Amino acid sequence: TIYFIDGQFTSKDSLNISIDDRGYYFGDGVYEVVKVYDGELYTAEEHFERLFQSASKIKMSIPYSEQQLIDIAKELVKTNDIKTGHIYIQVTRGVSPRVHQFPEMEVPPVVTGYAIPNPRPYKNLEDGVSAKTVDDVRWLRCDIKSLNLLANVLAKQEAYEDGCAEAIMVRDGVVMEGSSSNMFGIKNGVVYTHPATNLILNGITRRVVLKLCKEMSIPVEEKTFTSEEAMKMDEFFMTSTTAEVTPVVKIDGKAIGSGSPGPITKKLQEAFTRQIPVTVIG
Ligand code: PLP
Repeated sequence: TIYFIDGQFTSKDSLNISIDDRGYYFGDGVYEVVKVYDGELYTAEEHFERLFQSASKIKMSIPYSEQQLIDIAKELVKTNDIKTGHIYIQVTRGVSPRVHQFPEMEVPPVVTGYAIPNPRPYKNLEDGVSAKTVDDVRWLRCDIKSLNLLANVLAKQEAYEDGCAEAIMVRDGVVMEGSSSNMFGIKNGVVYTHPATNLILNGITRRVVLKLCKEMSIPVEEKTFTSEEAMKMDEFFMTSTTAEVTPVVKIDGKAIGSGSPGPITKKLQEAFTRQIPVTVIG
């Protein structure tokens, strides 16, 4: 596997990561995951644009242009011969002795990346998954795709220990999003999802799905709903770069709607699949 670090493509053995990297100490950095279908990056511009927005929100500048990062990502896909998979790219505030405030001397951000094969989650797409509601104890800037993921890690672990694929983050009784996904409920033909505020990450897949709803004249309300209302939805699904449109068929052990992937969810899945660059749909 060939990795990218600080302007170089290199093997894992030659990766030189410092203990003084602020990402390592503080999670002081941002990241993106971009899906690769058929050897092509999917919605790369949107992801890298969000990377720059996340960096700017934490007062960090990225020493590359958007196009340069896309070229690096493409090179990782090519040298690692990735057909279906994803690239991971992160930028930290650089290497400096451990003090909380930004380094006094200008230090360059550390940019690292790799590409790995990862099949589409066919089984989950087909059967749906179970989810568990978890208290959202995160900070108030969930719109930043930051490396600080401890609350997300703890939430996902709690869900996994209960045999669930995802945690539904609930703040003051309201469904926010998943620990690494966005959440959608469908009631009487209307698709509901939390508005893109500071309390959720505005997922790229979320945006694609909202666009598909519009194109297919499926009514959408970017409006909050409670976890109680979630239990009474006709259908439920979650979205992310790797999960695509995954039906959620059970929440906290109770079946949602019919307990199997619903018709509107399936329509959205099919529409999603139609617009990704896959020549062979297996
Ligand atoms: N919400 C959170 C907290 C996430 O970590 C992610 C992605 O990992 C998402 C939502 C979905 O975003 P995207 O569709 O851009 O992958």
